[in-house]
Amino acid sequence: MRPFTYERAADAAGAARAVAATPGAKFIAGGTNLLDLMKLDIERPRHLVDITRLPLDRIEEVNGGLRIGSQVPNSDLAADRRVRERYPLLSMALLAGASGQLRNKATTGGNLLQRTRCYFFYDTSKPCNKREPGSGCAALQGFNRMHAILGASEHCIAVHPSDMAVAMTALDAEIETVSADGTTSTIPIGELHRLPEATPHIETTLSPGELITTIVLRPPPPGRQIYRKVRDRASYAFALASVAAVVDTAGGLVRGARLALGGVAHKPWRSMQAEQALAGAPAGASVFRTAAETALQGARGFGHNDFKIALAQRTIERTLAEAAAQS
Ligand code: SF4
Repeated sequence: MRPFTYERAADAAGAARAVAATPGAKFIAGGTNLLDLMKLDIERPRHLVDITRLPLDRIEEVNGGLRIGSQVPNSDLAADRRVRERYPLLSMALLAGASGQLRNKATTGGNLLQRTRCYFFYDTSKPCNKREPGSGCAALQGFNRMHAILGASEHCIAVHPSDMAVAMTALDAEIETVSADGTTSTIPIGELHRLPEATPHIETTLSPGELITTIVLRPPPPGRQIYRKVRDRASYAFALASVAAVVDTAGGLVRGARLALGGVAHKPWRSMQAEQALAGAPAGASVFRTAAETALQGARGFGHNDFKIALAQRTIERTLAEAAAQS
């Protein structure tokens, strides 16, 4: 590991200022991703700004929704009674991710910003545009079983690894931030993460030093919420494909639906077109099949991951059917 300096932030705006003002600086919270990357010489921060003591560790009820501090541990968020009762989708997604020990340390803000688990990103002997811009992408011709089927580019086909972010995307979460100059912003979660395009090393729309302070959930949408994750083993594995679905039915018709996918793209993948295909339609297998086909329009495999298209199709259909049956 390379030497680095360290400071503990006294307040959120000061933390943002410190990271923006110091070349090579990064925030550190739970460290469950960053420390691994530092040990592997993939992340090389020269200065760490510790944000774990900031008063951002509360979950508050506001206007029928929740304000979740960015330092709330994943375990606490998953176990919160209000989350379990009103946003079960979020609790299910959190508990589907990582391990109990990691969830105890990982924070809500850090979960959103965790980096891809592409094998080649972690292998410093291989070209990777995300790790070393302009070096190439070893996954395009390499073993790419975990990789993207939607929104990929010729520069990167990695996927975002978070389960929690997929649930929050279906729940229309908003991300509050503070910047180095003290200004605050609110970012819809769909605009937080970027597709790779020609710059896969730029993963979010956050500016240098911009710190996530709070995640806001509006009152829960009507209907049954389900998060289904398909992976190679039952625990401690990233999604091959995951589905966050909210389905509200009445009289055999779908009144409204939300659909977001994980493990298939560089960002959580919301399909508004599929939601439109579901709205007002009879709640049945053929409509769920059409919605899944709509969500996967343009999907493309890269060899080893071709199977993901059929897997995602079936997972969407099954999750929508299950949510509708319980709605
Ligand atoms: Fe790097 Fe992205 Fe290619 Fe993986 S898919 S090797 S992260 S550029």
